[in-house]
Amino acid sequence: MHTFQFQAIGIVHSPYREKFGIPRQPGLVDILATVELLPPYNRPEAARGLEAFSHIWLSFVFHGVAREAWKSMVRPPRLGGNERVGVFASRSTHRPNPLGLSVVELLAIEADAQGVRLQVRGADLLDGTPILDIKPYLPYADSLPEARGGYAPDAPAARLRVVFTPQAEQELGKWQGSYPELRGVLEQLLSLDPRPAFHRDDAGRVYGLSVYEINVRFTVQEERVEVIGIDALKT
Ligand code: SAH
Repeated sequence: MHTFQFQAIGIVHSPYREKFGIPRQPGLVDILATVELLPPYNRPEAARGLEAFSHIWLSFVFHGVAREAWKSMVRPPRLGGNERVGVFASRSTHRPNPLGLSVVELLAIEADAQGVRLQVRGADLLDGTPILDIKPYLPYADSLPEARGGYAPDAPAARLRVVFTPQAEQELGKWQGSYPELRGVLEQLLSLDPRPAFHRDDAGRVYGLSVYEINVRFTVQEERVEVIGIDALKT
């Protein structure tokens, strides 16, 4: 009686095409995503009343992690990737049950012949993430301003300054027709320093980050990210 089976009630459509570069918690980047309800749960009445809430909890499956054996201790990026804490003291994706939990802003609920879709802002979810449950965020119970945040007491400071080379600037201009929010999203994403902790001394290295249908190439020197190219993603 300790084994359970769940069915996805929805699926996420998000601009994050790969794990690299996704913020490590929700609400850090103002990116838009859609939660599409799946049959037989895609009935408008199943979300009735939810529009009165500004935020929702999404319970989901980390479907993009290989099903490796879990480890009892992990190295959270917030501790620089060196110190270890217990897996249950972390928000790591590698857990005995690969379940995630994110609070996001609910912008709109659309219900029509195509189905039911929730438009959300601030998700930290890979495109295609299976959603197991949706619940309204209850400020009186879920917001605890006096709570202690352990090794992650505050949001990571947006540390890095983001600049575009003239060529990247030109390419950005071309994409902004399709994605008017692109500059802001890239600035927020890159300022969070997506590099894994073990690369931080690797000056001069060129990184590639996929978002929307775009591959963004950048380098990091000291506190400065330089975007050197913005190209169509090869699919
Ligand atoms: N807010 C969630 C997620 C924290 S881990 C929670 O606390 O449970 C955040 C990382 O999960 C992101 O940086 C991203 O790389 C990864 N991620 C997001 N969606 C994923 C998915 N469907 N499969 C695997 N990893 C995912």
